[in-house]
Amino acid sequence: MSNDLKNNNSQIQENLEISILKYQRSLLTSNKQLIEKCYREVCKIYPPLLHMQEWYSQYHYLYDSHEDFESDYIKIFCNVLSNWKPRSKRKISRYNGTGEFKNYFIGALQHNYINLVKADNAGKRNPSQKCPICEKSPEYFKSPEKWHLDHDPVTKKFRGWLCESCNMSIGNLGDNIEGLTRALNYLLAARNLTVDA
Ligand SMILES: [Zn+2]
Repeated sequence: MSNDLKNNNSQIQENLEISILKYQRSLLTSNKQLIEKCYREVCKIYPPLLHMQEWYSQYHYLYDSHEDFESDYIKIFCNVLSNWKPRSKRKISRYNGTGEFKNYFIGALQHNYINLVKADNAGKRNPSQKCPICEKSPEYFKSPEKWHLDHDPVTKKFRGWLCESCNMSIGNLGDNIEGLTRALNYLLAARNLTVDA
């Protein structure tokens, strides 16, 4: 890269940083017009849809329509935008990257699509398409990220795919047979019944 190009790139990064920080400050005002204006300024320097087609060609099968894909893509962009910190404000990273906004955005996209692919595969592996505990219907799992991977915290082995609330519920009850048995016995005791763990 020639020095001119390098300088040009660092100038762009600096302008981008300034505009993102401005956008983040605008979010605090709840002034929709101002937020919109600041958002457009960021997009002028870093057009978020520039590389969307590449991602779309790979992952469109996970979405019902192009509009769904685009709105999800923009949501990720906005999330990264509102949480991004310039390198000078980050803890020193062991990866020692350049700290460019672009890398965080691409990282977030990768993370999102990998999770969706995993969840999509999970849906395919769960042929009944129902949560095995609460029996939530296939309709609920239409968006594949609704599936949550459940694993045994002791053996670390994969146990199955659940809906979020069932996964959290068994977690809150200790994620083990003893905890769930105590909860069950609590309910049974009201009817003078018990079970052994
Ligand atoms: Zn469930």
